[in-house]
Amino acid sequence: AQPPPPAQNYSIATDTTFAPFEFQDESGNLVGIDMDLLAAIAVDQNFEYTVEQVGFDTALQGVTSGQFNGMIAGMSITDARKATFDFSDPYFDSGVQMAILDSNNDIEGYEDLRGKSVAVKNGTEGATFAASIADQYGFTIRSFDDSATMFEEVKTGNSAAAFEDYPVLAYGIKQGNGFKTVTDKESGASYGFAVAKGTNAQLLDQFNTGLANLRASGQYDEILDTYLSADA
Ligand code: GLN
Repeated sequence: AQPPPPAQNYSIATDTTFAPFEFQDESGNLVGIDMDLLAAIAVDQNFEYTVEQVGFDTALQGVTSGQFNGMIAGMSITDARKATFDFSDPYFDSGVQMAILDSNNDIEGYEDLRGKSVAVKNGTEGATFAASIADQYGFTIRSFDDSATMFEEVKTGNSAAAFEDYPVLAYGIKQGNGFKTVTDKESGASYGFAVAKGTNAQLLDQFNTGLANLRASGQYDEILDTYLSADA
């Protein structure tokens, strides 16, 4: 039997460049773990969607205001966010870590940030973590809308460090972006797909069912391996 035609064309917001979760490949296609999981889940669950690559903070606001049906953007499932979002089952474990330039031999820990400025991305767990230790370690915070600008700020020397999710840092460092880590990663939350609290229950349900099917079929592992295997 033919599957029924898709009933929905969901608008799904995501971040700008946040490799390996969402980024443009060499041909300009939007790829990454989030994008590939979403695509496979949509096929499995027979729905259509349009990705809106608006940036993380704009995605948060656009989902809560009802502008978008949902978001997938390496978004951490946190208790604070549960007040305004409903989350899918977790699909990736993450957490925050500090990044400094590979050429920087002056910073060995947070205590070396005293009197310096630190770059973060608006609305993120990295920003929240940096704010939570800023007074203790005596640094100031500069906020940016996307990770590329945040890293640029460190490259120009305006900021001494950036706080970012460790899988993103590890991926960038492996690609030779000129950064390194010198501190342990902070314990952090897992990523989830999100909708505004109390809305889009069907979409959330489809995401969870599709995710479970991808885990069972091995497709989930295949997608992760595409971006995280030793030679990726
Ligand atoms: N995982 C982090 C958060 O949820 C960062 C997400 C992102 O920058 N796309 O705040």
